[in-house]
Amino acid sequence: MSRNFQPLRHYAGGWRASNVEDCADVINPANGEKLACVPLGAKKDVDAAVQAAISAFPKWRRTPPEERIQYLFKLKQLLERHLEELAQICTEENGKTLAESRAELGRAIENVEVACGIPTLMQGYNLEDVAAGIDEVMIRQPLGVVAAITPFNFPAMIPFWFLPYAIACGNTFILKPSERVPLTTQRAFELIEEIGLPPGVVNLVHGGKAVVDGLLEHPQVQAISFVGSTPVAKYVYAKAAVTGKRAQCQGGAKNHVLILPDADLDATTRIVTDSAFGCAGQRCLAISVAVVVGQAQKEFPKALLDAAGSIRVGNGLDPGVQMGPLITRDSKARVAKLIGQGVKDGADLLLDGRNGGSAPSAGNFLNPTLLDNLPPSSALSHTEIFGPVLSLVRAETLEEGIEIIARNSYGNMASIFTSSGAAARKFRYEVPAGNIGVNIGVAAPMAYFPFSGWRDSFFGTVHGQGRDAIEFYTHKKVVVERWPQEWSRRF
Ligand code: NAD
Repeated sequence: MSRNFQPLRHYAGGWRASNVEDCADVINPANGEKLACVPLGAKKDVDAAVQAAISAFPKWRRTPPEERIQYLFKLKQLLERHLEELAQICTEENGKTLAESRAELGRAIENVEVACGIPTLMQGYNLEDVAAGIDEVMIRQPLGVVAAITPFNFPAMIPFWFLPYAIACGNTFILKPSERVPLTTQRAFELIEEIGLPPGVVNLVHGGKAVVDGLLEHPQVQAISFVGSTPVAKYVYAKAAVTGKRAQCQGGAKNHVLILPDADLDATTRIVTDSAFGCAGQRCLAISVAVVVGQAQKEFPKALLDAAGSIRVGNGLDPGVQMGPLITRDSKARVAKLIGQGVKDGADLLLDGRNGGSAPSAGNFLNPTLLDNLPPSSALSHTEIFGPVLSLVRAETLEEGIEIIARNSYGNMASIFTSSGAAARKFRYEVPAGNIGVNIGVAAPMAYFPFSGWRDSFFGTVHGQGRDAIEFYTHKKVVVERWPQEWSRRF
């Protein structure tokens, strides 16, 4: 990767320098090394991108879907060919392990593949003779210029929850990636340039709040997709309503797992540990609380402690490393403070990630942390930690466990580990979360299913990915037609 500290450029009908000189450093969280300098963007940069997208829209929407997807087939091939290079960049700027970066790229490619089905997915429906001689047709049409704002934790995947579907449906698209991890996107856009899309069909504006506000306030931006923390998701959703835009806003999470006594000890321990500590807990589908039910309290706490204690922490580029650093020093300090808060509130500290362990001293490393008997009154039981901390809570029955989950205000994911079909069915029927895992630790929907999420984890109606994405990126137009024979000229 080049070590060029010229500010990164935006992509708006072609590469262009930012209109502002304000820049932020992009830092490798594993060693504190400066990787790049990202412009913080301004409304003028948004205007340039929107202008490019507006100019490209009329011709792009008239391009037959079959032709539009040919670009996506090329993109899939390029992403596959450059997977290792992109994974390396992703690990350098985000800190996750190379295996985790490769896996998220696999998910990005899967979304490109699904969007290649647009000629079928975008079809409407019709009915002849809704009244005698009258036919009715529903067709889908693109919205125009649409935008997505994405977070730091999946720089290679989350932009592709939106980009392929948006353009396959005939929209033109603007991406505002996280200013903390702009480099994976930057390289992906260099590859996108190689597929030969007409200028302005896809655009990239770097920056932070000023760019987000610029997109929200621009009258020509029709729809906003957002993924990030709940307070910002709420802000974006509310502002989109005021400015009359369609919006889908995915927020934060506090994911619970319920472990029943009949769960397989080894498999459950391995899967729950990976879910809690993979990506250093910086996954919106990371398990944060394990509710251990009845007799499961005998063996699982010790098994989870052993598994968490054996995780190798270090630079994600090094072979054998299983967990990388947190994204920033501030994140590390915030998570360390929350651990202290949990202990103050009465939780038992089974494993303290703030001290010792295998983490290198440079970088934003915290080791896995395990808290037991977290009191429900502790702020930790409802705060998104977004770090490598797993809290154990004890319950006597399945019903009590489900109640504990339902008390939490988020609804991104919940999992159950059991060998009982009846317990699993009750769980999936009653738990108020959008993604449910049954003996699965990270219930991440495949690209042809919606990435669901309820309550404080999602604001909107239709989600990202799959058929929901087509719903979000198209207007429905209904045509009612009458063509009486007697009105036709004879021929
Ligand atoms: P964040 O909310 O800080 O930032 C997300 C995006 O919003 C970034 O592009 C950022 O530049 C922008 N932004 C930040 N503050 C803003 C403000 N005040 N006004 C306008 N825009 C602002 O989130 P993050 O730290 O990058 O990502 C982690 C969060 O994302 C966690 O809460 C995690 O649970 C959530 N997340 C959710 C999902 C999901 O599918 N629900 C997926 C991934 C991450």
